[in-house]
Order: sequence, then structure tokens, then C-alpha cells
Amino acid sequence: MNRRELIQSAPATAAAFAVAGDLLLESGAARAQQIDPLQGHFHPKGKAPSTHTLEVLSQAKAGLPFADTRDFEEQAKGLIASMTEMTIPADAGHVAWDMERFRFLDQQDEFDSIHPSLHRISRLNNNYGLYEVIPGIYQVRGFDLSDITFVRGKTGWIVFDPLISAEPVRAAWALFQKHVGQGLPVSAVIYSHTHGDHWGGVRAIVEEADVRSGKIPLIAPFDFMDFTVSENVYAGNAMNRRLFYQYGLLLPAAPHGYVGQGLGQAVSAGATGLIAPNRLVTQPIEEFEVDGVRMIFQNTPNTEAPREMNTYFPDMKALWMAENVIASLHNIYTLRSAQVRDPLAWSKYIADALYRFGLEAEVMFASHHWPRWGNDRIQDVLRGQRDLYANMNNQVLHLANQGVTINQIQNVYEVPKGLQEKWYCRGYHGSPQHNARGVIQRYLGFWDCNPTTLIPLSPADSAPLYVEMMGGATKILARGRELHAAGKYLLATEIVNKLVQAEPQNTEAAELLADSFEQLGYQQENPGLRNSFLAAAYELRTGIPQGKAASSSSPDVIRAMSTELFLNFLGIRMDSRKAEGMRFTMNLVTPDNGEKFIVELENATLTNIKGFQAANPDLTLTINRADLEQTMMGAKTLDAQIADGTAKAVGNVGLLKRLAEIMVNFDPRFEIMPGTKARTADTDAFVESGVPDKGDPYQAVPRQSIAE
Ligand SMILES: [Zn+2]
Repeated sequence: MNRRELIQSAPATAAAFAVAGDLLLESGAARAQQIDPLQGHFHPKGKAPSTHTLEVLSQAKAGLPFADTRDFEEQAKGLIASMTEMTIPADAGHVAWDMERFRFLDQQDEFDSIHPSLHRISRLNNNYGLYEVIPGIYQVRGFDLSDITFVRGKTGWIVFDPLISAEPVRAAWALFQKHVGQGLPVSAVIYSHTHGDHWGGVRAIVEEADVRSGKIPLIAPFDFMDFTVSENVYAGNAMNRRLFYQYGLLLPAAPHGYVGQGLGQAVSAGATGLIAPNRLVTQPIEEFEVDGVRMIFQNTPNTEAPREMNTYFPDMKALWMAENVIASLHNIYTLRSAQVRDPLAWSKYIADALYRFGLEAEVMFASHHWPRWGNDRIQDVLRGQRDLYANMNNQVLHLANQGVTINQIQNVYEVPKGLQEKWYCRGYHGSPQHNARGVIQRYLGFWDCNPTTLIPLSPADSAPLYVEMMGGATKILARGRELHAAGKYLLATEIVNKLVQAEPQNTEAAELLADSFEQLGYQQENPGLRNSFLAAAYELRTGIPQGKAASSSSPDVIRAMSTELFLNFLGIRMDSRKAEGMRFTMNLVTPDNGEKFIVELENATLTNIKGFQAANPDLTLTINRADLEQTMMGAKTLDAQIADGTAKAVGNVGLLKRLAEIMVNFDPRFEIMPGTKARTADTDAFVESGVPDKGDPYQAVPRQSIAE
């Protein structure tokens, strides 16, 4: 298991399909810099924050409620033991988790290259140890992007949300047992929702056989397995690529680089796994005992995740808000991308939790950040979060109904002042700007209704005309530098980007654009925005690092994928342009799970329909679903399955080979900023720790499933 796996979330159907190749290389001539690089910056072309940026940050600081220090009190409350080892090794030999690299955040009260509010949340996320929530409920925090929670049951410990990978979970469990656990076993596991940072480490604390036999209850919201994988498959490679921006995966942790992710410091890089739940919560509200502890489950579908649930412990007056209420504005639209979330539903479920449980709850805790104690505080947070999501929905639509478009809303919509003064409503995961655009996207889609943007030219096609009309590269660079020097970075990017689009090999343009992105990055409170600006600056300066993308997939995640989802994804992987004129009808039968499909290639389109069989197929393929998984993982080709009799093929077997020939293995190293693919550099120095193979930073991703 290693960080490459997230990159290759697309399952390879067979090794024979591998297409990853080296990128073309071409070195660009170095050009003189206008601004001196900064000593101590991780990148040789990196610049110091400008006086304009310093002014933006100091104004931001003056407007923030720093007198309110309750988060720091709550974050520190209940500490039982700090974790002393700053790194957690992965079984595979690399580093699964590294808190050493975030120590710098505590070594200065402020950094001139980090927004003071972002610095604040990153310091809060430097908590690293075992905490008591109340007697009987404990959390280990700072071992991953998410928290792991232990609740005392009658016979053992009920575990909520076992992180992203096994090694941090094992370390958390060891720390917990040393101080609190009394050697009692895990008696139940609960997944609050479908995102990978809430289940990926489950194999560290429970044996699959004990779950399958029912000895250990593993509880999750309804449709859990359907949604754990499906959110990230169809556009998986594009999402993985976008993670390099949102999560700044190539940026080192440093004052001018990566400073945390808001939700937590980072994503762990250990071994991931998934065990299917053996009990689903299907009703909107369901109450039952788990190892002797009374729990009321509240399903909250289509909120922070497609399937999610809160839990109330009435006998302890303790409210678990999963990831629905954290110490931040969450994403309505996530920059790594997923379908836009429903802020109105989200707000309503928070309101439901408020009136159902929140009027009496005495402690509230969640899967990220830290708990809230006392009913007044709980109600304040619940009401503020309810209003944050409802306001974003209502006021954005209010403005949209008056003609404000997706291209303007980020400059028009503002979170109400009263909410801006509440730290837990700050944009540490979602930003008001990209969320506001997301709300419009959800209801109205991408088009601003101006026909100019209805079938727009591609940027590379329109940019040359702009460059010509602006008088050519020299003039644009001169004006771009003026704007940059005046601190008008968005205006600078507006025109310099045109030049970069028109002349991808213009190094001066790329570096000026990078310089402006960098200043914009320093100015952001939201880590996703900061990382995206800094990641683009990095790629413009360095090029996309080269290397070979390896293909591997977690067997657990492949098993979680339905055959229909797999077949749908094959339709996406097939290059339709190469399928012109091809035609076949295939029956697929998987006897062990009783499924049947018709798979047809016609009109250069691969489709499938479950539950049907064609009368006169060109081929009938019979293979157990358990064996098909070997092919889905890329471990064994269909040819090999047929050759050794595992699969039975009747009819024209040759068409499988023809289909295989037009399948594409997606490569995450596609170009985002023009010209970045044609350049390269020695990138090892900039790659974060936890990378087992130094060769390809694009393996620098830990997991199969995307955290949030
Ligand atoms: Zn999460």
C-alpha cells in the first residue's frame, strides 16, 4: 500500500491495458527574474510576501475575533496523554504519518506568508494525543486528517470512525490502551459516513471474520457500500489530479508551502482497507443498544456525504455530529470535485439535531476537530452552523433570482457579519467564494446565460487574439508586472494567463503568473484555495514532475465496487473514437452472486444493462464475481481467466481482445497549466514525506478513496 493508490482509483481491468509512459521532456531556457527569490523558501524561484500581501493579512487580522479563545480551551481540554513519537511508520517501510513537519506552526506567533486565521486553525490542529471527551468517551486526535473515538460499552470499546489507514489506528489504539483502555477489546465499530477518512484504517482494530460472523457489530448508514466507492469512480482520475491542487500534494509543509488542510493536518499514508458493515441504520431515526450503550441514530443523507449519520447517547447527554458540524464551514462544492452538496438539507438536519437532541445535550463531539461542552455552547454552535448553510443556500439563490451569475456570485455573496465573527463558521474547508458558486452550480448549472459563454472558444483558441489585440507578449508582460507590483494580482493573472494560454513556452509569462498566484496563495484563509494557487505556481515553475505512474488498487475497495459500476466505468475508459464501426453483444453471467448483464458495443458506445440476457449473443462469458475481481484489480487478465478455465467463454472470444485494445488507463499527470508538461526538474526535494518510491511524486497520494 502506498500513496500511489489514490492516483489510480480507476481499476485496471488487466495488466495488458497498461499505458503509462514517460512524459516528453524539453527544458525551457531560464529567464531573468524581476523579483528576487526568497532565501529559505522551499522553491528556488519562490518569493517573499509583498507589502500588498502583508497589508491584506494585517487587515484580515484586525477584523478577526481573536479575543475569543474558547477553541483553544476546548481543543486542550481533557488531555490525558500527548503522543511522543512524532512519526508513525508504515508497514511498507515509509512514513505513514508525520507531525514533525508541522511543528514550525507553533514556533512563531505569526508568519508573514500565512493568513492569521489559517495559521490559527493549523495550530489548533497540532493537537496530537489522547483526550477525554467525558468519562466513557475518548478521542485520539491528530493521528490523521480525522479523529478516532472510543466509547465504553458493557464488554469493550465501541470505535467510531477508524481513520484513513491502519498504522495510525494501531498507534492510536496502543496509546489509548496504555492510558485508558484497561485491555478491553473492541466490541463494535461505527462508520459515521462514506468518506475514506472514516473507515480506511478499520483492519487495524477488527478481524473481518468477526464482523462476518456477527460477533462484532459494524454499523453504518444505509446504502453505505454503494456510496463509499461510487462517488469517486467515474471521474476518479480527474479528481485525483485535482487533489494535487486542493491538498497541495507536491508542496512541502513550510511557511511558504503547505500549512495544513483545515479539517486536520494531512492525509495519512498507511495501509487502507474496508470491511463491509453487518448492520445498517435504515430508518430516519433509529434507537438501539450497541454493547449495552443506548444510541439514537439520525440518518442525514445528502449532507456532507451522500450517506452520513449523527448519533445521540441519551444516557450521557452526548451528541456525536459525525462530520455534519465541525469547527469550520465545510464544502458545498469541493475543489477536488464531487457532486455539489445540498446546503438546505444539511442545514435542516442540523436543525433537526438541535431540536431533537441539542436542547439537552451537555457535550457535542465530531469526527474532526474537538468537542464543545455545556448546553449553551452546543446550542450556539448548532444554531450558527444551521444558519451558515441555510444562509449560503438562501442568500445565494436570492441573489441569483435577481440576476447574479455563477461568474459574479463569489464577489457579491457574503456570510452574514454575525456568523463571520464565529470561528466555527470560518472557511477552513469550504470557502464562501467557492461554495457560493457551488450553490449556483447546483441549481442553475455552469451557464451564466450570456450567449458569449454558451459555446466558448477553448482558452488556447481565444488567447492568441487577446495577445494580438493587447499588443503582444512584451506589452502584456510589462502591464502584468505593473499590476503585480501594484498588488493587483487578480488583474495580473487575468492578462498574464492569456499570454500563458497563447504561448505555453513563454517562461517569463509562466513565472510572472506563478508569482501572482503565489501572492494570492499567501493571502487565502482557506487551505484549499491557498494550496491551489501555490500548487499552480509550483507546476508553472517546475513543470509536472515526471515518472511512471504505477497501477494498483486496494482489494477491499475493488470488492466494494458493484459489477454494474465496474461495467459503467469500462464505458468511460473505452476510447469511443477507436470504436467506430465495432459492434457486439455479450452476455455476462456471474453465477456466485446470481447477476446477469447484457454488454453491448454499438454506435461507438459501450453500454450494459443488468438483469437481461440477449437471445443471440456474440459471446457469453460466465465467471464468478469473486474471480472477476482479480481482473478488476488488474491481477489477472480475462484471457488468463479463460485459459485456465476459471471463466467460460462461448462464442467469439476474440472480441474481448479488441475491446481491451481500445481501453485507456487514465494517467493523473495531465497538464492543467499550459506548458507545464513540457518541462521537468529534479523534484525529489519538494516531495512530501511518506513517499516510498521517490521516482514519481504522482504516487504521492496515500489512498484509494478520497478523504473529506
Ligand atoms: Zn472526514
